[in-house]
Amino acid sequence: MEKILCITHTQPDGTLPNVALEALTVAVRLLQQLDGATLTVGLIGQNVKPAADSVALCGATRFLSVVGPEFEVSRYASDAAAVEAITRTAEATLVIAPATTRFSRALPGVVQRLKGRIETHISGLDVADGKLAVQRWYYRQRMVATLTRTQRPWFLLIDGGVYPVWQGESGTVTPEKLVVELGKELLRTQVIGIQSPKTNVKTIRPDADVLFVAGAGWTKKQADGQLHLDEAEQHILGFLTNCNASLGSSKSLVDQSVEGVAVLPFMSHLNQVGQTGSTPRHSKGLSTCCHGEEPHAVGWRFINERRAINTDANCGWAQGKADVLYVADAFEVMAKVNALLAG
Ligand SMILES: Cc1cc2nc3c(=O)[nH]c(=O)nc-3n(C[C@H](O)[C@H](O)[C@H](O)COP(=O)(O)OP(=O)(O)OC[C@H]3O[C@@H](n4cnc5c(N)ncnc54)[C@H](O)[C@@H]3O)c2cc1C
Repeated sequence: MEKILCITHTQPDGTLPNVALEALTVAVRLLQQLDGATLTVGLIGQNVKPAADSVALCGATRFLSVVGPEFEVSRYASDAAAVEAITRTAEATLVIAPATTRFSRALPGVVQRLKGRIETHISGLDVADGKLAVQRWYYRQRMVATLTRTQRPWFLLIDGGVYPVWQGESGTVTPEKLVVELGKELLRTQVIGIQSPKTNVKTIRPDADVLFVAGAGWTKKQADGQLHLDEAEQHILGFLTNCNASLGSSKSLVDQSVEGVAVLPFMSHLNQVGQTGSTPRHSKGLSTCCHGEEPHAVGWRFINERRAINTDANCGWAQGKADVLYVADAFEVMAKVNALLAG
């Protein structure tokens, strides 16, 4: 009988990120599908009470926590120690965790200590005849595999955007506090701040319905022989605002800044979609001024409905990569679309 542990870290305000609530959906489903299973919730952070209360009625029979200022920040040593302590105390056989950067870094080490196994980037689960099978993609989302394992504890890092956010009544619960001693050695890494690319607009919105991808065409000379960067910025940001869309980019566009070519200032490499970029999950995607070559289209694996605007009728999108290709000037189309959306 499986002992399920859903473990997560909290946000600075003590609440849970959406990706953690998505992992909880997985844990609750497994609790219902696996005969005789039990569920423990494990929380790590400076203050976990709001998080615990928000999921108090999820069906867990036990709540464990590791609390303190040194557990607020992302640091391998303290995160690994906290996860290890909670997993051992819960005697967990299945550990469900969100694939945050923090846990993606810390959990593989914990698995070594506990002589378990881990699967990362889980994008699906299935229980048949009482057996759990998980699904993940390999080779930059080109091949999908279904796996089962007998070894325990089995850690599963659930990718964001695959499962719905757990929703249920909040309640009141006081999690058991575990004491985790962090010696000087474990605290020698001090988090003194976060450096991120300078962009003046928040453009990456994993929860958005629509992904808007901009390609290098926006910064190329247009039919009149001129660059139209200001206009491009206006169309792109206008659409993001009108639709609350998330902004993706081709590699060529974000690479231009390091090559000294004119760029769109709100773009960074974090926006890049593709083989060497991200593989975001959104229900719809609109590609503009982007050729749709294979390395880029690989990043569209989890976009359900795809449309593209390109002046070139032979662009990559026309080769079966988009559901609809508008052979048109994206400047003209987006001006019209934004006017309709704003009106
Ligand atoms: C190992 C490897 C990994 C790679 N990984 C990635 C990756 O992760 N992500 C990625 O994006 N690329 C990746 N690439 C690069 C990829 O192959 C392409 O070079 C890149 O995606 C092209 O970007 P683009 O379509 O924006 O630019 P371009 O190829 O320059 O295309 C610009 C497009 O804009 C169109 N256009 C211009 N003006 C307009 C207009 N007014 N209206 C409509 N359309 C217009 C043009 O017709 C053209 O199709 C990788 C390449 C390699 C070799």
